[in-house]
Amino acid sequence: MSSISSSLIKPEIQQLSPYQVPDKVYPIKLDAMENPYSLDVSFLEQWSQVLKTASLNRYPDPSAQTLKQQIRTTFAIPNSQELLLGNGSDELIQMLIVALNQPKITLVAVEPSFVMYRLIAQWMGMSYQGIPLQMPTFSLDMPALIKTLETHQPTLLFLAYPNNPTGNLFSDQDIATLLEINSGLIVIDEAYGPFTDHSYLSQLPNHSNLLIMRTLSKLGLAGLRLGFLAGSALWLEQINKVRLPYNINILTQITANFALQHYTTFQDQAQKIRQHRAALCQQLTQMDIKVWPSQANFLMFSLPNAVSIYQELKKQGILIKCLHGSHPLLENCLRVTIGTPEENGVFVRTLQTLLS
Ligand SMILES: *Cc1c(COP(=O)(O)O)cnc(C)c1O
Repeated sequence: MSSISSSLIKPEIQQLSPYQVPDKVYPIKLDAMENPYSLDVSFLEQWSQVLKTASLNRYPDPSAQTLKQQIRTTFAIPNSQELLLGNGSDELIQMLIVALNQPKITLVAVEPSFVMYRLIAQWMGMSYQGIPLQMPTFSLDMPALIKTLETHQPTLLFLAYPNNPTGNLFSDQDIATLLEINSGLIVIDEAYGPFTDHSYLSQLPNHSNLLIMRTLSKLGLAGLRLGFLAGSALWLEQINKVRLPYNINILTQITANFALQHYTTFQDQAQKIRQHRAALCQQLTQMDIKVWPSQANFLMFSLPNAVSIYQELKKQGILIKCLHGSHPLLENCLRVTIGTPEENGVFVRTLQTLLS
């Protein structure tokens, strides 16, 4: 970097490495928790009909009223609660941090978890505390969390539920304790909500310092970039002030609204993914591989020579996620997204060959 730009760029940004995305196209792509199913012809035809109604020359509805109403219906958002939409939930994490970042506030997250919490805190120079999860099940370390919340109060606490990349849900009793003692704001990130029966959405009216974050990405609409925050208007009115105007483009508004009117299509796909998750988990276990139980659309597993297996799979056109090196608790861990039965089959057979 030239001396001019290196002096202009903030040191915390210079220290970062860019967010890693795959370097090429892989025939079997099981790295990013995408839904593997395409949509049928009649769905696509109806969708293109509604897309034609978009006025591309006009700015979109800045508050996306129609889409918000559809989200309320589809996800049974309690009437007392407000919604805020983001260009993916990543943008919502960013808005939360922009709005709350102050010297006296600490962002707390457990580790390993979704990396964007820490990454965006770093961009913004917000103080950050990562609390390691407890082995062997990646449960919450309650004494450590309670101590952190008490010493650093007030805090902004992010909890992914189910957690990424470990796939587990945290104990309801632990979460109840955190909601009780927390003097700041707790955001429960339910990105993997479609793959579990557990959710805190219905509990929103009972906790004024709780927000729930959801995304359509893992459900099967990763290309749309739409996430939402649900919770008290008192919070969301304020956070809404740092939302860029028109952050949800018209194509996303129309498409998401249409897709959620056909929510059962996506629910059926999620159901299939849950069944194939169970099958894949069983197959890996039978191969004497350590697999962690998952409530999400991926499985985390570990192997003695994880990195070389990951590289070999990649050479054979199968991309999964190598977690080794990303956190001390993830030594020799890999993560595979549940694909179609055919993709899962190729993955298992290739892995079997590599291990024999
Ligand atoms: C994938 C993921 C997100 C990001 O979702 P987008 O809406 O695609 O930005 C948020 N949280 C967790 C835990 C995730 O795994």
